[in-house]
Amino acid sequence: MFWKKPSGTAAPEPVPAVASAEDMALDVVASLLKNFGENAFDTDNVSAHDTRSECEGWAKRITVGDGKTEAGDEHGPKSFKRDFAGVRNYFAAQRSHEREFVGRSLGNLREAVHAFARCLTTTVAEDRASDERVGAQLGRLVGAFQSNDSQAIRHEAEGIVAVVQAVMAERAESQKRVLNELSQNVSELREELQRVRDQAALDPLTQLFNRAALDAHLDRVADLAFLLSSSPCILMIDVDHFKRINDGYGHAAGDEVLRRVADMLVRNFLRREDFVARYGGEEFVVVIPDSSLHNAELRAERVRHSLAELEIDSAKGKIQGTVSIGLAALSSGDSGSSWLARADAALYEAKGAGRNCVRIARAEGSGVLSAGAARSIAPGSARDQSRTGLNPRLTGAQ
Ligand code: GH3
Ligand code: MG
Ligand code: MG
Repeated sequence: MFWKKPSGTAAPEPVPAVASAEDMALDVVASLLKNFGENAFDTDNVSAHDTRSECEGWAKRITVGDGKTEAGDEHGPKSFKRDFAGVRNYFAAQRSHEREFVGRSLGNLREAVHAFARCLTTTVAEDRASDERVGAQLGRLVGAFQSNDSQAIRHEAEGIVAVVQAVMAERAESQKRVLNELSQNVSELREELQRVRDQAALDPLTQLFNRAALDAHLDRVADLAFLLSSSPCILMIDVDHFKRINDGYGHAAGDEVLRRVADMLVRNFLRREDFVARYGGEEFVVVIPDSSLHNAELRAERVRHSLAELEIDSAKGKIQGTVSIGLAALSSGDSGSSWLARADAALYEAKGAGRNCVRIARAEGSGVLSAGAARSIAPGSARDQSRTGLNPRLTGAQ
């Protein structure tokens, strides 16, 4: 017997020593109740512990009764009061509550897994091989749903989590590989594009920016200057009597002079923001994006000195030359071309003043050479014919 009956000295034992069929039935019920309690689980409003205690209480009540005896005869009390109806009601209510709880929980799980599966089928539909693996696992999950076996659903749901994790890891790895390849391709392409763009913007002889790049840059600097309140200046630099160099030393030597002048300019305007271009022929332009006129003039003078000291070897002897420089600060209302025209006008003045010198353009509308007048002189044109002054010192030149 499962529950020990209380021993008493006064009253005789109500249950016979040999187990009756009724005792055995009671034992079975008590044992079932105990088992039910031991396997209880937490539900919405009853903990497993409480259910276990309740079951033990009911098992006791139907085996040893509630301790109160029913009225008996001269042989003593008839029996302990056992609440069979109570235990039946409790058990039925408990089972029904559990069924409801399990059904609801399973429903939530189904919904969550369904949503997960729906999401998966849309997100993992790219890779065919991994789709097949996920598809097979999903099939097993559907089978588990149909079997209504919560254990199997959980197992297959865990299985699909593992498969998807593996697929995601593989996909991340392959995407990383593809991205690496792609970024490699992109940077090669970018370098290639930059090279092509640079070539289009460079003068082949000197590797300085060419006239087209200069025009675009001047407009950009002029526009930005008004926004940034900067004070850009340009120098227009022209090799004095260059024709004589060509004539005296040959065209190739003339080319070498142009290259050396370009190198010298680059060395004098090393700042990243300085822009050095070959305007055409033996004319160069430097754009200084933000400088006082005074500082720009100092830099122009430095360049003029450096170039005057430059000696270039040639087959016919050393070549020495000078440059004339026109300097113009950006005036309000200047466009790139009107600004350049004022620098050109200042250069024209420098030529007229005897060459090998720097002249500063007046601000727009304030003076000697208007932008309009300057614009009428095409760069590298016959205006040079009208320039007068000293010949450059060309050592060894005729
Ligand atoms: P000025 O002092 O008045 O500037 O006189 P200049 O002789 O320097 O000017 P002019 O415009 O009379 O001559 C410029 C010469 O530059 C004419 C042209 O043949 C030469 N030239 C233009 N481009 C090149 C080139 O790429 N290489 C060489 N070697 N010569 C060039
Ligand atoms: Mg010249
Ligand atoms: Mg010239």
